[in-house]
Amino acid sequence: MSLSSNHFLSTPIEYLKGVGPQRGELLRKELSLNTYADILTFYPNRYMDRTQFARIMDLQNEGDYVQIKGKITFSEIIGEGRAKRLVSSFKDETGVIELVWFQGINWIEKIVANGGNFIIFGKLTRFNQFWNIMHPEMEKIEAQTTETLNSFYPVYPSSEKLKARGITGKIMVKMVQALFVQLQPFHIVENLPDNIISEANLMSKYQAVRNIHFPANNNDLQRATFRLKYEELFIHQIGICKLKLNLSHIPGFLFFKVGDYFNEFYKHHLPFELTEDQKKVLREIRLDTQTGNQMNRLLQGDVGSGKTIVAVLCMLLALDNGFQACLMAPTEILAQQHYLGIRDLLAPLGIQVGYLSGKVKIKERRDVLKGLANGEIQIVIGTHALLEDPVVFFNIGLVIIDEQHRFGVAQRAKMWKKNTKPPHILVMTATPIPRTLAMTSYGDLDVSVIEHLPPGRKPISTIHRTELYRAKVMDFIRSEVDKGRQAYIVYPLIDESEKVDYENLEAGYEQVKQFFPAHKYNIAKVHGKQDAETRESNMNGFVKGKAQIMVATTVIEVGVNVPNASVMLIESAERFGLSQLHQLRGRVGRGADKSYCILLTSDKISAVGRERMSTMVNETSGFAISEKDLELRGPGEIDGTRQSGAADLKIADIIKDVGLMELTRNKAIQLLQSDPNLETPQNQNLRNFLLSRKDKEVWSKIS
Ligand code: ADP
Ligand code: MG
Repeated sequence: MSLSSNHFLSTPIEYLKGVGPQRGELLRKELSLNTYADILTFYPNRYMDRTQFARIMDLQNEGDYVQIKGKITFSEIIGEGRAKRLVSSFKDETGVIELVWFQGINWIEKIVANGGNFIIFGKLTRFNQFWNIMHPEMEKIEAQTTETLNSFYPVYPSSEKLKARGITGKIMVKMVQALFVQLQPFHIVENLPDNIISEANLMSKYQAVRNIHFPANNNDLQRATFRLKYEELFIHQIGICKLKLNLSHIPGFLFFKVGDYFNEFYKHHLPFELTEDQKKVLREIRLDTQTGNQMNRLLQGDVGSGKTIVAVLCMLLALDNGFQACLMAPTEILAQQHYLGIRDLLAPLGIQVGYLSGKVKIKERRDVLKGLANGEIQIVIGTHALLEDPVVFFNIGLVIIDEQHRFGVAQRAKMWKKNTKPPHILVMTATPIPRTLAMTSYGDLDVSVIEHLPPGRKPISTIHRTELYRAKVMDFIRSEVDKGRQAYIVYPLIDESEKVDYENLEAGYEQVKQFFPAHKYNIAKVHGKQDAETRESNMNGFVKGKAQIMVATTVIEVGVNVPNASVMLIESAERFGLSQLHQLRGRVGRGADKSYCILLTSDKISAVGRERMSTMVNETSGFAISEKDLELRGPGEIDGTRQSGAADLKIADIIKDVGLMELTRNKAIQLLQSDPNLETPQNQNLRNFLLSRKDKEVWSKIS
């Protein structure tokens, strides 16, 4: 990359004509625009077609966005305090509407005081029988500007503060225009290899940058958009695939034999026959651990698909080859349950299983640490306390992470350092991975899937009921309980610190007690604020069948296994995400009985809430549900996307552009296979670009 282009593009924004220190400061704070380069990637939200206008007479739907050309005829400031507002009458040949401002009144007043012709754009609302637009975008039309009107006038993202401080859409456009006056083709260095550009028929980077801001026509705009999306996704995928490639070459331990522990357990203590899928996954893991490289594998299987037994068998494999193994879970409860279950399962083999979490008392803790260091403890199960520095292993060979989305990549890396070579890593998740996340958050791992549940599971009936039916719902639960079944009643706990959520839980508990009187029924209450002992003993009461009903927060979301439970009642179900609802539903339907999941919501829920409920009622596939979840929530909120950088995409959309992502991923893989260190002349653009960026670690090997 030539120095001069670097210099020019890294010029601070205040040096741009029309910006200066004060506006510069605002743009920095409000829009993170620091340098000229930032302006280039500050893409328009949309384009105003300044040849197409609505007529006031034809306005119909509240909520529509409309553009109207007309005249401001009258303005006044009315109201006091917070209701103080500036109202202008805006008129075209067919009628009148009102424009309203609550903020930046002083500034706007100067613009509208003398009336004049404007193009305005905004969202229609209806108030006192008048059409209104609040805080419209507006542009004054001078008589002579008519010939410059074109159909692609960029509209940039803004903020209330900027608008209030008089940085209007028009000023933003001027600012970008000022940059383009100075911008020369040599400032913009091509970063894609020529063969990719010609194969995909892409616009050059320089052309694309110009056309995304000021396209001459729709075709240019489409091509510029495509080029920039392509580039963004391709570079993103090159990073992920390179990481994966680096990972696949890390020397790892050899698990060359299947020994006594595995065989003994497999032949005599396996509680059930493995499903074909479980066997397939075991074979994949066997192969991974015989290559001499470190395994980094993700095991994905819906709730209840039987991942735990696969984990156990893998750990036995590690033991057979002279290594220790560990299993980490995201919560204390889940870790405890794994510990108790696995300890019992392996007891006949005489295997030493240890437990470690932040809650383990000092003396016990000392013993566990000692056992891990001298190798007496062969398998350890626990929370992320296992990652901490004092935890030293004699010879750790396999790390299994259950429900990984709460363990970041950095934490995985901590485990690597706990032996002379990094141990094999198996990450397990019940959250089905939509295509898009398989290529982003999990894109650096190899994936195994358990597709089919173990035989004999009955489908779960899912029902949505509103508050009005509460008594009926409780009657139904009682009838199930009276047949000897058990039921979960779950309350949302969105934020561990949310006091009101606990109040809901307590109130709910009192209410449940009225439906299920204490002389006849036992109710176990379980939540994260309880100390570990209380929680565990309440939990065990339910697991052992002493309590018929468990009232809980989402601490039971992952992992609890009580086959006799046949009803899952989810309170305020509209407050849960789809994936969470699916996880909760997966707590029932594990035994021989017909099971039910009841989603209880208030009578009034939002359209999105309603869609979520009907998705749950109609869909049983975890995969379909997680795709829908992604669609309804947007990628930013999905676990792990932030770390993967996918949330930083500026122009591509990881959901809508999933097809293009697939395509660029394939291209990225192809390129890295033929030239892993980007040494060929045609890949120098790309190499230089990547080295100039922050993600150096991934690329350090090529610099
Ligand atoms: P998850 O994949 O959600 O972690 P688990 O490992 O907890 O699922 O298994 C769910 C239930 O299915 C457990 O009760 C387990 O014993 C049972 N299970 C697992 N594999 C099989 C199988 N092959 N046949 C019958 N039951 C199985
Ligand atoms: Mg599990």
